[in-house]
Formats: sequence, C-alpha cells, structure tokens
Amino acid sequence: MKTEVINITTEYEKALTEAKKLINDGEVVAIPTETVYGLAANTFNEDAVKKIFMAKGRPSDNPLIVHIAKFEDLAPLVRGIPEKVKIMAEKFWPAPLTMIMKKSEKISNVVSGNLDTVAVRLPKSQFARDIIESCGVPLAAPSANLSGSPSPTNAKYVFDDMNGRIPLIIDGGSSEIGVESTVISFAEDPPRLLRPGGVTLEEMTELIGEIVVDDAVLNQLQEGAVAASPGMKYKHYAPTADITLIKSDFETFKNLCESEDNVTAFCFDGEENSLSCPCVTYGKENDGFSQSARLFDALRELDEMGAGKVYARCPDTKGMGMAVYNRLIRSAGFKIKII
Ligand code: AMP
Ligand code: MG
Repeated sequence: MKTEVINITTEYEKALTEAKKLINDGEVVAIPTETVYGLAANTFNEDAVKKIFMAKGRPSDNPLIVHIAKFEDLAPLVRGIPEKVKIMAEKFWPAPLTMIMKKSEKISNVVSGNLDTVAVRLPKSQFARDIIESCGVPLAAPSANLSGSPSPTNAKYVFDDMNGRIPLIIDGGSSEIGVESTVISFAEDPPRLLRPGGVTLEEMTELIGEIVVDDAVLNQLQEGAVAASPGMKYKHYAPTADITLIKSDFETFKNLCESEDNVTAFCFDGEENSLSCPCVTYGKENDGFSQSARLFDALRELDEMGAGKVYARCPDTKGMGMAVYNRLIRSAGFKIKII
C-alpha cells in the first residue's frame, strides 16, 4: 500500500476531504492531535477498527480511546454520565484528558478490548475535532506507533512506523503536549487515575476531590496481577537502547556517566555542556511540560545515534512530571538506581 502524506499548513481543506473519504470508506488515517499522532477509524465500523490493531500490531485486549468533537456526542456511547464526569468535562474538555465510563451497546468489544467500559476523549486539536465532525462519527484512535515503540509526535515518525501499512498520514507539525492523554476511570468511585498526562492529578483533585492513583502508574505491575488499564501490562515506549534511570544529583550522575565506558547520557537541557560523554537532552529540569514535549523524540534519537547503555536523569513526579516519569520508567524496563 502506498502511504500518502498531506500537510495541513498548506492543504488544510484537502487533508480534511481526503481523510474523511478514507475514514468513511472504512480505512485508517493517521491524524495529528495535541498529545501525539493517532491512528483514526470509524468507531462503529468493526472491520475498520480491526485494521487499526493490524497496522499497529496491537494486542486485541488493549482497548482504544474513542474521540468525540463535542460533549453531546458522549451520551450515546455510555450508560449514563456520572456527575463528576460532567464537572470534569465542563472544566477541562477539550483537553488531553480521557474519561472511562460504562459503555453502551453502541461500543463493540473490538473497540473496548472486551471490557464493559469505554474510554472517551474530546481533543483540543482543531484538526482532530474538524475531522471527527466531518466524518459524523466518533473516531477510535490509539497512538500511531507500532505497538511497543514510543508514540510519534511528528509525521516523520508516523511514516517511519506506518509506511505501507496505512493509506494516509496528515502532517500537522509537532504535537504540543508530546505524551498521550491522562486516562482516568469513572467506572468506580472514587475515580482511579490509570495513566498520567497533560491534565495533572493535582488539577483534577482540586476540582473533584479524592482520586486513587493506580499502582501501575508509578510501579511495575506484579507478576500475575490484573491491569486496570490493559495498556499498562505491555512493554511500552521502549527504544532499543538499554536505559537505566539514575535518581541522584547532577554531580553524582556526571561521575557515574564519566566513570564507565560507552555511556550515553539522557539529561536535562544545558547539562550536556558539562558532560564529556555523548548526550541526548529531554527538556528543562523541573519543567514537566518541556520534558513531555521532548521525551518521545529524544527516545527515538537515542536509537538513531545507536546508543547502547544509557543513563537517564530522573524527573520529578509532581504535576506534569508524573506523566514523564510514567513513560520514562517503562522505557527503562523499570530499572532505577538510587545513589
Ligand atoms: P493509546 O490508544 O495508545 O493512547 O492507549 C490507550 C490507553 O487507554 C491504553 O493504555 C488502554 O489500555 C487504555 N484504555 C482504553 N480504554 C480503556 C478502558 N475501557 N479501560 C481501561 N483502560 C483503557
Ligand atoms: Mg499507545
């Protein structure tokens, strides 16, 4: 299959028309969103949704997020909207925020990975909302990477993974947030945070009170445990490079990197000037938003430069830092050294 790329900066209307045509024909199209690029298909067309799983090589028990263009699109997808969801939607949507509820009969088991719940997001990205609106159906869309590799934050990385697998990629430049949406489940009360992202735990707690942070957010899932979010049990965001997170001050980190051979440092902006080994930077220290915007590109750069052993600076887990730590600890296969 030939994979076409259309840029929205120069050809917005053509991008919208071509993407709509393909999606309404039951095809899969990669689209830009403010979090990362997504692989979008008609939620109500099971064959189209199956093509997403095939293109990504995604396990069929890992459910997809359903994207809507306006709050009114939510009701038909779920069995009642909890009061807290209304409050959250009012305050945050459109946003990098996915809310899980009991699903209605309109959501097939293919989309929900056989769960009785559905994950729904109203994205901020204008193109994403325009394409949902013009297709006239909610779009099921996971991240547009091959299963297991870092989520793509620009059209080139989508092309690297999806060339020949899907007919069209819409190029909308770099994703603003750079990591996937916050996922929080309202299928239970108090609600449970399953994946940290662009809307932070602190902001949500301030609005609706107690939120349980699922164990798998910051820790490795124990052998045999059932994942509240199936995505959390799979190896994720993993470059070929062998990463270890180093929890220490910068001086200790520098000594470690420089005392061993063939180390690549994965460090904060500016620190590369004080290190004598090869470095990849992933944003400013104590600035979760600048780290999240850089993280996945930086992970892909490690592989592009052929990095082997990588020592990574450890981000703070407050605010947006929690989302960064959640991805980075998985890329490191949960290897962490506290010095
Ligand atoms: P992605 O589509 O790559 O952003 O991944 C979506 C994430 O949301 C995965 O980790 C899924 O396991 C999770 N997810 C989607 N739907 C549900 C659901 N109904 N219950 C729990 N987790 C879900
Ligand atoms: Mg993903």
